[in-house]
Amino acid sequence: MRCDVLIIGAGVSGLVAAQKAAKDGLDTILIEKRSSVGFPYRKIDITEDVGINDIVSELKLRIFDKSKKSKWLSANGSFLLNSKIVDLFIKRSKDEDSFEKAALDHSLDFGCRVFTGVNNIDLRYGSNGIEGVDSKIGGRSIKIKPSVVIGADGSKSNVLASSPLRKRKKHNIYLEGFGITAENLDIPSGLTHIFFDEYILPGGYFFMSKSSKGLGVASVAMNYSKPKGIGVDTYFWDFVTYNKYVRDVFRKSSNKKYFVGGCESFELDRRSYKNVLLVGNAAGLLDPLFGYGVNQAIYSGYWAARTIKENISEGCEKVCEEYEMGLGRSLLPDIKSGMKMRLVFDSLKNRHFDRLMNMLNHISEEIEDMDDFLNNPVKYPIPLAKSLIRQPRLLGLMRYMVRMF
Ligand SMILES: Cc1cc2nc3c(=O)[nH]c(=O)nc-3n(C[C@H](O)[C@H](O)[C@H](O)COP(=O)(O)OP(=O)(O)OC[C@H]3O[C@@H](n4cnc5c(N)ncnc54)[C@H](O)[C@@H]3O)c2cc1C
Repeated sequence: MRCDVLIIGAGVSGLVAAQKAAKDGLDTILIEKRSSVGFPYRKIDITEDVGINDIVSELKLRIFDKSKKSKWLSANGSFLLNSKIVDLFIKRSKDEDSFEKAALDHSLDFGCRVFTGVNNIDLRYGSNGIEGVDSKIGGRSIKIKPSVVIGADGSKSNVLASSPLRKRKKHNIYLEGFGITAENLDIPSGLTHIFFDEYILPGGYFFMSKSSKGLGVASVAMNYSKPKGIGVDTYFWDFVTYNKYVRDVFRKSSNKKYFVGGCESFELDRRSYKNVLLVGNAAGLLDPLFGYGVNQAIYSGYWAARTIKENISEGCEKVCEEYEMGLGRSLLPDIKSGMKMRLVFDSLKNRHFDRLMNMLNHISEEIEDMDDFLNNPVKYPIPLAKSLIRQPRLLGLMRYMVRMF
């Protein structure tokens, strides 16, 4: 089989790439190793809409719900943020109403050929990159000859491993999450709660949110870069046990379903090689502080397909150049600053989290538009000076966190 674009992996990034490529008239094949498309557990991912708003509209990506409010809680303080930035709720699963199901249906409608249960994938390299992909579906051999390959196969990417591209070891952050989706979480819908407590969750955070449709999510995400020896589920249940507020919310909840998983944020010199573009988690495009990767997966999947369509007539070198430039302008600066914030975050004690809440409350008493303050703090010299006196690195963290939540 020949095709213009072969996409390996049908997660968020692969499905978005497949949909965009097929919609733009490229002959597209999507292969997935699992027997069907969709995250194996039911979960709700939350991600900001910054940078992907137009993509969501153009591709009619399925958004489960939206919210703008979050409440941050430390051991002895809290802060309520009314942001202008919209958080998108993305329902991940194999269900009919999932993000994946809608993206798959759209891709098929645009003529993308989709194969699931694909295994024994052998990537054959030649002087122009990947020249052939041999694999098996249920014992039957298939051979694909693609012009361009999009590696969308997640954190343990085979496409990355088979290429000469190597991770920069210094910046690897491995985040692990465990949580539940549930009905009847006793919290207002559309208000995401984020808890910080270095005693119960060192290097991590706990969050809870409920959509207007009733389905809610509660989860921990933790830095597991250094071996911890304790499962992430233990941290989750410890938090539910020791935090009275969360314990009470849980008591009344029903229809709980568990999810678990991990992904890695890392740096590469490049995210493309000859005729291969890496997207989403395969390219390490994950926020190293909070483990958010859906925004990055949607953006990079879309951008990869678009750069292929717009530049392939000038050759793969041009495609790679445009792809790298786009990521450099959009996602990479935030991931770089996230690496720095990770170091700040990992060193914080509970008293620092309390001070952070205090600082946010003080500033928001003086300034109505927190988004504006954080985008352009020099416009507000007095609150800026006060927060710098209290703790300059907390100001940096605060700016970063407000953007994320
Ligand atoms: C527990 C948990 C909670 C999270 N919560 C959030 C959140 O709230 N907000 C947020 O923004 N992000 C969150 N993330 C991160 C986010 O889910 C990922 O960053 C995002 O899904 C990455 O998408 P992807 O398409 O790049 O990779 P993946 O979703 O990992 O998809 C990769 C796909 O490739 C397939 N595959 C792998 N190898 C092969 C192969 N050899 N051949 C063919 N197919 C292959 C896999 O089966 C999979 O379908 C969370 C992650 C976890 C684990």
